[in-house]
Amino acid sequence: MRCAVCGSERLSPLGEVRTGKDWGDVPILRFYRPKFFSPRPTYRFVLGRGCRDCGALQMFLTDYDRKLLNEEADGLEDVRSDM
Ligand SMILES: [Zn+2]
Repeated sequence: MRCAVCGSERLSPLGEVRTGKDWGDVPILRFYRPKFFSPRPTYRFVLGRGCRDCGALQMFLTDYDRKLLNEEADGLEDVRSDM
């Protein structure tokens, strides 16, 4: 596995990624709301590797969210600046 930013192979072991102390405090990726009353498609990242050369963090979706993203990917739209 290589760093997506600098190409280094010097990545840390897999670690948990959190934005706070609580279990639900994880980075998310959200997309444009497909219909007015529908929820915004949201996917959670819980694991990551840090690059020991450039310091970049590579995050990985949960297995469940990765499967969901694959199922919904063709219907996702870019977020808009007026959201
Ligand atoms: Zn790097």
